[in-house]
Amino acid sequence: MSIEADKAPAARLSAALHEAERIVVFSGAGLSTESGIPDFRSPQGIWSQAKPIEYGEFIASEAARREAWRRKFLIDRDMREARPNRGHRAVQQLVSRGSCHTVITQNIDGLHQASGVPEQVLVELHGNGTYAKCLECGRRHELAPIEEAFQRAGVLPHCAGCGGLVKAATISFGQAMPERAMARAEAAIMECDLCLVLGSSLVVYPAAAFPLRAKRRGARLIIINREPTPQDGEADLVFHAEIGPLLGAALEIP
Ligand code: NAD
Repeated sequence: MSIEADKAPAARLSAALHEAERIVVFSGAGLSTESGIPDFRSPQGIWSQAKPIEYGEFIASEAARREAWRRKFLIDRDMREARPNRGHRAVQQLVSRGSCHTVITQNIDGLHQASGVPEQVLVELHGNGTYAKCLECGRRHELAPIEEAFQRAGVLPHCAGCGGLVKAATISFGQAMPERAMARAEAAIMECDLCLVLGSSLVVYPAAAFPLRAKRRGARLIIINREPTPQDGEADLVFHAEIGPLLGAALEIP
């Protein structure tokens, strides 16, 4: 049923959002599908086509690194074209009107920043796919020259400073979580009165523990996701709906 045909869910969501004063948004890949970036676990998602390359494989095997970069540049075609959608704009509005103090995202696409959410409000739990980093010294590397050398001559990137392996600045399975981002997320969860989950299957840990922690320490939990999640039973409100139309209607975002 479309939200336009039934205003009741949007009205209930709107009331809950207006009552809250300290909102943490927790976003996942589902927030960006309406911008044309596939998620991982939907039937047309990235993992229906290939299993993820784990951090250990990336370190140990040149073939795995080659495959990781090949996939990365394929995904980047979608990411480069992508623009924030109605859901991102709704989140930005919650931030700019002062009721949302932190946006914790599992997304690596940079679309929260592109919608105008300031860096100091944003916590990127799984890093950022719009640049690369040396795994030894942490130096930042831009993607364009890496892609040019890879596509032209199959060159795999190494750090010009220390010779270390260079990898997209995202967190792979098996890779340590970023300490500062985890600490900032934890602090935000401890002081929120509402955790709003947008487009996450809530199965990737440790990230998926944050909404549950918020709920268990007394905050309200609202989940908007197309499909059921393992935390639906804990939530105060669950909407199995498309994020943009529902959140857009609730916050009157065109
Ligand atoms: P996920 O793919 O596991 O789950 C996404 C969920 O969103 C699914 O349950 C799906 O039903 C739902 N969904 C998809 N489109 C929706 C829409 N328009 N409205 C409502 N629900 C919708 O994603 P996850 O929980 O974020 O975890 C997967 C990992 O994928 C994360 O670690 C993240 O780093 C990475 N990832 C990021 C991007 C991105 O940056 N855009 C894209 C793919 C994967």
